[in-house]
Amino acid sequence: IEFEHCGFPETLNSNLKNSGYEVPTPIQMQMIPVGLLGRDIVASADTGSGKTAAFLLPVIMKVLKEAETPSALILAPTRELAIQIERQAKELMAGLPNMRTVLLVGGLPLPPQLHRLKQSVKVIIATPGRLLEILKQNSVQLHGIKIVVVDEVDTMLKMGFQQQVLDILEDISHDHQTILVSATIPVGIEHLANQLLHDFVRITV
Ligand code: AMP
Repeated sequence: IEFEHCGFPETLNSNLKNSGYEVPTPIQMQMIPVGLLGRDIVASADTGSGKTAAFLLPVIMKVLKEAETPSALILAPTRELAIQIERQAKELMAGLPNMRTVLLVGGLPLPPQLHRLKQSVKVIIATPGRLLEILKQNSVQLHGIKIVVVDEVDTMLKMGFQQQVLDILEDISHDHQTILVSATIPVGIEHLANQLLHDFVRITV
């Protein structure tokens, strides 16, 4: 595949060019077409493979025309990873209308995150603990979520976040797309995949 043939809006194509994304990486070649079809995915992909854009592009296309309520949820195990994902998301979404992001992560003050949530954000990038904290005080609604990504599932499991991830995803409507990304394919991912995914496509490079 080529980025130009994916049906992306002109703005997105030029953002890709401006970021130096000329040719899709192998994981992007496999994940983007399947993701754009709306299929659930379990992908094994390491940092440096281009995995972030591989899930961000289907996320962007899925929520582009949605209403200005949270429509995509990306879960990451650490604040640092969440920050990196948001940085790439902002780069790719620059100039696209109504595509605001919010970062809901621990270790940073809560009030600015709650304030940002009130500004018609569409894409939530979060760590599990902070998102659960915000869910408990009813400051975010997840029922409009159309696509969920759980990044670095192996790290999530290692850090003991499995139940938190399940608790969060319980809150979300059943007709959403789910993408799990993991460097390795740990034993626990089968359990998670069977609970969370429907008829998923497995992708490895
Ligand atoms: P990731 O594996 O998602 O952490 O990405 C690793 C690095 O590769 C990031 O700095 C991306 O901006 C960059 N990158 C991702 N996809 C491409 C691409 N198709 N062409 C060039 N650089 C890319």
